[in-house]
Amino acid sequence: MATPQAVARDLPKPRSPRENPRENPMVMGMADRPPIANALLAALPRPDYQRLLPKLEPVRLAFGEVLHEPGDEVRHVYFPGDSLVSLLTVIDRRLALEVGLIGREGMVGSAFAMGTGQSPVRALVQGAGNAMRIEAAIFRKELRHSVSLQREMHLYHNTLMIQFAQTAACNRFHVVAARLARRLLMTRDRLSSDHFRLTHEFLGHMLGVRRVGVTKAAHALKKRKLIDYSRGNIAILNGRGLESAACSCYEIFKDRTIKE
Ligand SMILES: [Zn+2]
Repeated sequence: MATPQAVARDLPKPRSPRENPRENPMVMGMADRPPIANALLAALPRPDYQRLLPKLEPVRLAFGEVLHEPGDEVRHVYFPGDSLVSLLTVIDRRLALEVGLIGREGMVGSAFAMGTGQSPVRALVQGAGNAMRIEAAIFRKELRHSVSLQREMHLYHNTLMIQFAQTAACNRFHVVAARLARRLLMTRDRLSSDHFRLTHEFLGHMLGVRRVGVTKAAHALKKRKLIDYSRGNIAILNGRGLESAACSCYEIFKDRTIKE
């Protein structure tokens, strides 16, 4: 079983453009361009990526920004780089529960752009950072021309469906502290950082519990010296210990994330 450190290594990392561009798909032979931060874009063959590139717009996603609400028309498909986007199902117009987490391994909005055009979920930026986006109509057109893009999209949708299903069972059967540990590790892996920002209120929405429940679970992890937190800034102090404290779903999310 791969360690989270191995997982992080398998995901694309920024590299110097001066590294051998022929062997490095992250660089794509463009010495003056930054490396491709998103794993799906990086996995495309060079001609497919180069065809897509002029249509991609670099954007900066802000913490708490809503990319789309349930029922909204999906206008753009996003490819996160070092940003992180949470998908939330909203019930009774006020209760929100996280059903998916998308970072540099995935894309946001592609299924909805391809289907009804409307999103059934809220897409909320949970980690500020960079992303590339493309207009939904252009994305649909490009998809017809690129078998590789179709393949990457279908593989990723499969991963996301597994994440949706696993999250439903996890929310029903696993205790809050174990779910919190799992969620913090998922964030760490996607951001490749032991330090990130997550408020207790936000975590409550993610885990489907009240803020006091999150505080209690976070306190238990802090008492075991696995994490520390202050004013929404979280630090993972003992990654291996946190893995032991996490529910078994972490292994499943981890494996699916790195398969392709
Ligand atoms: Zn679980």
